[in-house]
Amino acid sequence: MCGIVGYTGTRAAAPLVLDGLKRLEYRGYDSAGLAVVHDGRIDIFKAAGKIAILEREIGPTPPPGHTAIAHTRWATHGAPTTANAHPHSDCGGTLALVHNGIIENAGVLRTALTKRGHVFRSETDTEVLVHLVEELHTKGTPLVDAVAGALRQVEGTYGIAVVSTREPDTIVAARRGSPLLVAIGNGENFVASDASAVLAHTRSVVYLDEGEIAEVRPGDY
Ligand code: GLU
Repeated sequence: MCGIVGYTGTRAAAPLVLDGLKRLEYRGYDSAGLAVVHDGRIDIFKAAGKIAILEREIGPTPPPGHTAIAHTRWATHGAPTTANAHPHSDCGGTLALVHNGIIENAGVLRTALTKRGHVFRSETDTEVLVHLVEELHTKGTPLVDAVAGALRQVEGTYGIAVVSTREPDTIVAARRGSPLLVAIGNGENFVASDASAVLAHTRSVVYLDEGEIAEVRPGDY
């Protein structure tokens, strides 16, 4: 179980979530990644190893966009490789998702999703979540309801953050057995697994309760 940071607002999101990840480095991790929503698509960068390697992968110009999610991974299912690093995406590239925790029934769900035509690109338990969300969301279900519908099918623990090209200024966050909070700014909001990731920006923090789901946008949550 490691770190999650998300941002939606008016500032460039990628540098903010990268800075948040660095503040969580003390917790230990084996790989890192981020996803930025921009111009109808999601750009994903991942790296095995240190955040410095992820930064090298991103290069000198951070990807543009005002909504982003980021993750440091402590592998439980699948080796600490770039492919297994989060965020994970769905088949159509509409969604990106980061996850802390363990999905206990991932094997059964993966078999069923594969039979229904989903293509998996990692060995993680996490990836089932994004394909479950995809099944509902791409049929027109709003992101928050699609995430809730997906989570009803899983057993195990999670803190998650999800973004979609269809709702480009929204982050949906949820938790069960893994901490998650919403940090409230002025015209911008954050999600994080640990307050230390966001305290440089705001002291106003709302911890999600067990089983709660949050829809976070720049001006409200
Ligand atoms: N179980 C997930 C994985 O192995 C999440 C690990 C974590 O909490 O960092 O990818």
